[in-house]
This record gives sequence, C-alpha cells and structure tokens, in this order.
Amino acid sequence: MADSYQMIVLGGGTGGYSCALRAADLGLKVALVEKDKVGGTCLHFGCIPTKALLQAAEVAEHAQTAGEYGVNATYDGVDMERVLSFKQKVVDANWKGLQGSLRKRGVDVIAGSGRLKDARTLVVNTEEGERTLTAEKAMVLATGSKPRGLPMDGAEIDGEKVITSDHALFLDRVPQRPIVVGASAVGMEFASVWKGYGSEEVTVIEALPGLVPMEDVDTQKALARDVKKAGMKVHVGAKMTGVEKGSDGVRVTLEGDKKIEGDILMLAIGRGPVSEDMGFEDAGANLDRGFVAVDEYCQVGPEGLYAIGDVIPTLGLAHASFQEGFLVAERVAGQRVIPIDYFGIPKVYYCHPEIGAVGYTEQQLKDKGVDYDKAMFPFSHNARAMMMRGSGHVKVLAEKDNGRVLGVHIVGPRATDLIAEGQLIYNWEALPTDVAQFIHAHPTLTEAVGEAHLQLAGRPLHG
Ligand SMILES: Cc1cc2nc3c(=O)[nH]c(=O)nc-3n(C[C@H](O)[C@H](O)[C@H](O)COP(=O)(O)OP(=O)(O)OC[C@H]3O[C@@H](n4cnc5c(N)ncnc54)[C@H](O)[C@@H]3O)c2cc1C
Repeated sequence: MADSYQMIVLGGGTGGYSCALRAADLGLKVALVEKDKVGGTCLHFGCIPTKALLQAAEVAEHAQTAGEYGVNATYDGVDMERVLSFKQKVVDANWKGLQGSLRKRGVDVIAGSGRLKDARTLVVNTEEGERTLTAEKAMVLATGSKPRGLPMDGAEIDGEKVITSDHALFLDRVPQRPIVVGASAVGMEFASVWKGYGSEEVTVIEALPGLVPMEDVDTQKALARDVKKAGMKVHVGAKMTGVEKGSDGVRVTLEGDKKIEGDILMLAIGRGPVSEDMGFEDAGANLDRGFVAVDEYCQVGPEGLYAIGDVIPTLGLAHASFQEGFLVAERVAGQRVIPIDYFGIPKVYYCHPEIGAVGYTEQQLKDKGVDYDKAMFPFSHNARAMMMRGSGHVKVLAEKDNGRVLGVHIVGPRATDLIAEGQLIYNWEALPTDVAQFIHAHPTLTEAVGEAHLQLAGRPLHG
C-alpha cells in the first residue's frame, strides 16, 4: 500500500530541507527522502566545512602576521587532525540541529534512495525494504550536484594525487605545492585555505581570462593583485594540455609547453547535476546537460512536479536553493509567490580577500545598453580596513543620474557579510541618494559601502 503525503521532497540538502520545513509550517503533510545525511552538500561537503577550514586558515594567518600589530607570537604550523576535528564539530552540531528542526516541525524524514515511478509516485529503497509514496499535491526534485571530472588522461580522480573538494575537506596533511584547477569559489577558497596554512607554493590555473571569471572585472583585478602579492602563482587564460602522475606528485602541462609541478592536483571545474537513473525523464522532465528544466516557478512540465537547487540550472548556491525551496512550498500551499530575480541573490566567495556581489556587473550593463554611473571606494581609505590590513574596494553601479542601484561589488575584508546591505539596496530598488542620507557608523567596514553611495550621490566624504 502506498504512503500518501501532500508533498514529497526527494533530496534532503539545503533546497530539499528548506522546502520541506516551509511546507510543513504551512500545514502540509510532508515526506523528505534522503539517501545519505540531511543537510546534503552544503552541510557535509560544502559551505559549512569549507568555512570552518577557512576560519582555521585565518587564525593561522593572524599568528603568522601578529608581529605587524606589535604582538609577539610564533607560528608552528597547523595540526590537521585537530583542524579536522574542529571542522567536524561545527558540521555535527549543525546536523544535529537540523535533524531536531525537521522532527520538531513535523517533517517525515525517510532514509533511502528514491526513484520516480511517475510524476506523483516515488519508490524508495529503504533498509526495511521498498516503500511506495504518493504525492497528492507536489513532488519536489532536490537531488543536488556532484563535482565534475576532467576528461583528460592522467587527470582521473583518485582521491590522492588528483582530488576534488570532497577529498580536500578530509586531507590529513597540508599539501606543500597544491595545484588548483578552476578559479571560481571552490578553487579560490581551497587555494586560500592552503596559503593560509603556509603551503610552500599554491598554484591556480584558470582557462578563462580572469580569476572568479563570473564577477565584475574590477573584482577580478583586485583579487588577482592581492593573491599574487600573497605569493600565489596564478595562470589565467591557461589551457591544460596534459597531466602526469608520478611517485611524488603531479606534473601539469599548459599550452605553450609550460610545466607546473605539485604534490596534489585539485579539480574545481564546477559541479554537475545529480539526475541520472531516477526516472526523471520518464516522469515528464526535460533534461538539459543533465539539469532539470523548470519555469520561473521551478515547475517541471507535469502538473505538481517541481525541481529546486543545484539540479536546476540556476545559481549553484545554498541560499539560492533556500529561496527556491520557499517559493515552491508557498506556491504549493496556495500562497501568491513572485518569481525569483536571480540578480538579487548575493554571490559570495570566502577566499582571501573575500568577495560579495549582487546585481549586474559593469560588462553586463554595457551588454544590455544601460546608461550607468559608477563609484569605487577603496578599503585603503577606510580606517577599520587599514587596522585589518584589508585591501580591495566597494564598487557601486547605478542607472545614470541617481537612478536605481543596479550592482554592488565588494572585494575585501568581510565582503561576504557586507554584501547583505547591497542585497537590500538592490532588491529594494534604492537610489544612491536614498542610501547616502544614512551615514554609517564610524569606524566600520560598512562605511565603505556608505561612502561609495555618497560618492554617487555627489556628496563624497573621505578619499
Ligand atoms: C566545496 C563547496 C563549498 C560551497 N560553499 C558554499 C557557500 O559558501 N555558500 C553557498 O551558498 N553555497 C556553497 N556551495 C554550494 C552549495 O553547497 C550548494 O549550492 C547546495 O548544497 C545545493 O543544495 P541542494 O539541496 O540543491 O543539493 P545537495 O545539497 O547536493 O543535496 C542533494 C541531496 O539529495 C540526496 N539525493 C540525491 N539523490 C537521491 C536519491 N535518489 N534518493 C534520496 N536522496 C538523494 C543527496 O544525498 C543529497 O543529500 C558550496 C559547494 C561546495 C562543493
């Protein structure tokens, strides 16, 4: 006999659990089917463990640079066993909290691997045997993503010499000469972790012309300047033509026959959707390079079938999947929902220096033919940033002559937190003068956001 629910969510990552929690809060009877651990990539292999490692790297950097503040300290390196244990404690505490929330708020978590029989029926393989679940109102696909490999001889992922972020999170040593391929968030974050721990030489290879290639060109330049100053080796616009594994490491060849040697090669070339062999197409879904195609309400073709998170071709970010999860839950519960403006979702990179961005880049505005004004406030003019030895800038783009703010791009200390203000400014369609009338607290990093808007409003203060 089939178990009947109003909503079934397949996959308990950030997309799936946010949808399940919101739907349960709105009174729906919800099943959340997860084959591994609730929390998914973000909690176990992504956002949370990487930030714990980055936090340890920041402490290591403080120890190494303490003398510049007049503080006597010696740096004896990191003890990876203890770093990993610190990281795991943070993950486990969050995992426990999440399981408690799901229980408390009435979501039925079903442990097992699910496969669609049709758009409203899911067959789940559990330890106790097969269960068939039916969804009265909605079936939500939230099966997430996995790291992509590189189809090149020698670059086969072996978890030892050629690794992905899944392995890097559990490395019990600090690689001395890591080579990172791919300079987006995951690649730059691990490069920063290893640089922070004191690896001898960290190399980053990116095929596109700049680091963090999806970001504003001034962000790319500022990041490149800072990481090179910190001693990272950077190769952009660089095509890999070969990888050789040897007994003591790997050798990468770039176009032009340049050779780079390292002890480990980390592939950070993006993630692909998890959508194979789960009956998605037979149930009526269209797959595009494996991603489930959806409309602006995350609806897949057949009535009541939805998909959210990394399995759809939107922003591969946990908070984007939260927003999609909420949207679907509220729509299924009968609430009026507004399609997501993906430009209004902040993009965050926790590398050193950090990056936060929302809205359009300057190039995107040019491509759209929008007339714009811009202001850039450097952190070198911000007292708080000077104390933190921070560099970088806040760049604001707005429609010409005090029109709405269309982009905020921050590179520098605590940019991933500072961007929250940019998110409100962009999404509330504020004008530079709206922001400029509120003077920010002094001395804070947030002043840099305020000062960029003051500049645009024609009332500059410092700089
Ligand atoms: C190293 C790294 C760092 C990151 N850092 C950040 C960050 O700082 N900020 C940020 O916003 N994003 C970050 N991300 C991205 C973020 O982790 C993802 O965008 C997010 O986890 C996507 O959530 P999801 O629910 O779509 O998928 P997932 O979290 O991948 O969850 C999918 C779940 O579905 C389950 N599943 C799959 N198939 C089945 C099946 N057949 N039956 C049952 N269960 C199934 C899986 O076990 C998994 O738990 C990072 C990613 C990585 C890899």
